[in-house]
Order: sequence, then structure tokens, then C-alpha cells
Amino acid sequence: MALTNTPKMPFHVAVCGGGIGGLCTAIGLLHNNVPCTLYESAAAFEEIGAGVSFGPNAIRAMNLLDPEIKIGYDRIATKNAWPEKQKFWFDFNLGMKEEAWEKTGMKAPGKDGLRVAQVVAGDVGQCSVHRAHFLDVLVKLIPEGVAKLGKRVENVEKKGEKMVLTFGDGTHAEADAVIGCDGVKSRTRQILLGESHENTDPTFTGKYAYRGLIPMEKAVEVLGDELARNAQMHMGHHGHVLTFPIENGRTMNVVAFRTKDGEWGNEKWVLPMKKEDMFRDFAGWGDSVMSILPLMEKPDVWALFDHPPAPTYYKGCLAILGDAAHASTPHQGAGAGQAIEDAYIISNLLGQVDSVDDIEKAFKAYDTIRRPRSQKVVTTSRDASYIYEFEDETLGSDLKMIKETLEKRYDWIWDEDMPNQLEQAQNVMALKRNL
Ligand SMILES: Cc1cc2nc3c(=O)[nH]c(=O)nc-3n(C[C@H](O)[C@H](O)[C@H](O)COP(=O)(O)OP(=O)(O)OC[C@H]3O[C@@H](n4cnc5c(N)ncnc54)[C@H](O)[C@@H]3O)c2cc1C
Repeated sequence: MALTNTPKMPFHVAVCGGGIGGLCTAIGLLHNNVPCTLYESAAAFEEIGAGVSFGPNAIRAMNLLDPEIKIGYDRIATKNAWPEKQKFWFDFNLGMKEEAWEKTGMKAPGKDGLRVAQVVAGDVGQCSVHRAHFLDVLVKLIPEGVAKLGKRVENVEKKGEKMVLTFGDGTHAEADAVIGCDGVKSRTRQILLGESHENTDPTFTGKYAYRGLIPMEKAVEVLGDELARNAQMHMGHHGHVLTFPIENGRTMNVVAFRTKDGEWGNEKWVLPMKKEDMFRDFAGWGDSVMSILPLMEKPDVWALFDHPPAPTYYKGCLAILGDAAHASTPHQGAGAGQAIEDAYIISNLLGQVDSVDDIEKAFKAYDTIRRPRSQKVVTTSRDASYIYEFEDETLGSDLKMIKETLEKRYDWIWDEDMPNQLEQAQNVMALKRNL
């Protein structure tokens, strides 16, 4: 069913930010007959040219938000090529040579290339898209007139009965409620939590990543069919390299992670990459990694930040969602999925609000149900990197324990029952209403 912005609810919502979180929220609101306007700071909707993968929970949430999202996603999604690997999220392999292990002071847990684990992700397995193509799927579902581009939200304040937004171009807009979906450097998060609040600023996680793409033919030439066409994680001390196919298998997406002590030390979080830095970082790594790195096209380097747990995701009629609320490292491939889950819950709750006075109750229910889960994703995501990089104090380099842990540690994310989560949120909202 084509969406329209024909108002039914007696209130209007401003959605700030047109990434995956903001677009999914706008789609969800319109399905629930909640009129909304989406304000995006950039002059056009854009995403970086890299892959993003979604777990079974995120794909189910897409379908619940709007089956057209799932249909569009399925059209562009790429899975592992080998039928026997279709349900695997990643094959986990050792990625460093034994001599390199010696330099770390750790005993080599095995030979380069040794298979450590194969993790099954429901019946979905590894399922990835090119970010820009997925954004296109979402943008096409937004009816004319809903999105306003070139609108950088600088301030949100309550004036009388209305929320007033002030934009960088000096203009203003009014709404009854505001949902901030403006990413990890969120302005709305600052407004909600306070500018010098210790819970506001993103924190450098001690990890950074080189990202790039490789034409699949070249990848197959150097890695062979199995390693190139099916998702792989090459693990080593203080680093790991992951690869997965995107664009219907025409391209291999690469992310090569390293650990850095101390602060990031640069205002910019994404920098052009110097290849010599990357080669130095991975000196002594194994055959697969050493054949992947030189082939990475247009690579850049990303500092990885996440958020300390916010004490609340709403205040009055302002709420935050997606990375604005709980920016996470990518180590579980779950950050964008959490934004989609948020969008499903908040839009359905607002769809049951019949007066402006009840908006806050919907936000309270959203906060109660979404905050614990999304913040657990942030902390377990950091923890996951410690396992992949042999920094976990309990597991160390015990491959048997690492295998057992990896094989079950993501199930709580992937198995989530979203309709049940919505029901819980609705119950919270009903209780609040009856008080
Ligand atoms: C290296 C890396 C790999 C990742 N891989 C995965 C993965 O495989 N799977 C996964 O699920 N997640 C992954 N993530 C996380 C995922 O990218 C994010 O969780 C997701 O993109 C967040 O979406 P969002 O809409 O909340 O924020 P964003 O995508 O950051 O969108 C925010 C939008 O708001 C706009 N904006 C910003 N400020 C303002 C303002 N003041 N006013 C108006 N508009 C504004 C921006 O222009 C942007 O369009 C990864 C992250 C990184 C860093």
C-alpha cells in the first residue's frame, strides 16, 4: 500500500535525521496514521559506499514496519554464496602467522587459517546490502512533501503548547513531538541530556577500522571461492578482519580492525587511509589477510566511538532513537538493526495516542522497553571485539571456549520477538494512562 501523509492523528511529529533510523521512523509513523515531517541536514539523502548487514531480528522488524522495506531489502540483499553456508553469519578463522603471535607475548593458539567457529544466524545467515542501495529503498517509500532537506536542527524547545525547531538556515518549524534520529554526534541528544553531560559525548572505544571494497573477481583470484564469496572473520591479537559479499556477490566488503591505546586524538573520525599505515598495522598477519589488504579500493579509516548509557531516551515531547540514543560499535552487526527496532516500537506506540497529552506516555513506554535492550547491544558489542582480538580476560586464546561462546552469544539479539516487545510497551503505556 502506497503511503500518504494524510493526517488522522491530531498531532504532528518532527523526525530529525534521514538515516536508516529516521527514514524507518517516518515510514512507521505514516503507517500508523501519524502525520510527520522529516528534517535532514544534508542536501540529499546519502549513505557511504560500504556494506551493512542485518540480523534476523532486524529483517523481521523491517517487515513489521512495512513489508515493502523487506521486499526492497530482499531484492538487493546478498547472502553467502555456498548453499551449505547460507545460514552462517561468519566463519571465524585464525588470521595471524605463528611468528607474529610470538611477538605479542601470547602463545599461538593455532595455525593461520585454522577454523575456530561457524556461527549460525537463524535461517538468515549473513545477509548484507550496500548502504546507499538500502537507503534508496527507504527513501522511495517516503511520500512527496514529508522530507525537508538541507535542514540542520540546531535547537528544539517547548514554547507554549508546541515544540519549536530552529534550523541552521535560521528558519523554524513547529511540531507536537520531536524524535531525534541524528546519529552518533546527535544534537538532539545534547539538547535532551544537557551539553556538558557525561552521558552525552561519544567515547572512543580503542578500536579503529580500515574499510574498503574489492571487486569479487579479484578477491576470488587471491582467496579462492570459499573465502571470497562467504562471510569470513580473520581473528588475531589486537585486530580482526572481516569480509562479506555485497551487491549480489559482485563486490567483497572489507573491514579491518585494529586496537589503539589512549584517545583517538583527531577531531575527524573518518580519515583518508594511508596504505603504509595499514600494512604496518597488519605486519605478520596470515596469507588471507595479506592478500586482501592490497586490493582494498578507496579505503578510509574510521575511529569507532560508542555512547555511554543515556539515563533516558525522552524528556517531555522530545525522544531520541537509533545512534542518537545508543551508538554502538559494529562488532555484532547490530547497530542499524536496533534503530529499526526502535522505529517499529515508537511509531506503533504513537499510533495509539489520541491526544497530545498522551505523547509523553508513549515516549515513556518506548524508553522503558527499548533502553535496556539497545544499551545491552552497545556493551556486548564492545565485548565481542575483545573476544575476536584475544583480549577477553576469561576466554584468552582458549579456542574451545571461544567457539562455544561465539556460537551462542548473539542469539538474544537475533531471536527477539518484536510483537511481544510491542505488547510489553503497550502495557506500560496503558498503565501510565490509567494512573
Ligand atoms: C564501521 C561501521 C560498520 C557498521 N556496520 C553495521 C552493520 O553491519 N550492521 C548494523 O546493523 N549496523 C552497523 N553499523 C552501525 C550503523 O551504521 C548505525 O547504527 C546506523 O547507521 C545508525 O542509523 P541512524 O539513522 O541512527 O544514524 P545515521 O545513519 O548516522 O543517520 C543520521 C542522519 O541524521 C542527519 N543529521 C545529523 N545531524 C543532524 C541535524 N542536526 N539535523 C538534521 N539532520 C541531522 C545525518 O546527515 C544523517 O542522515 C556500523 C557502524 C560502523 C561505524
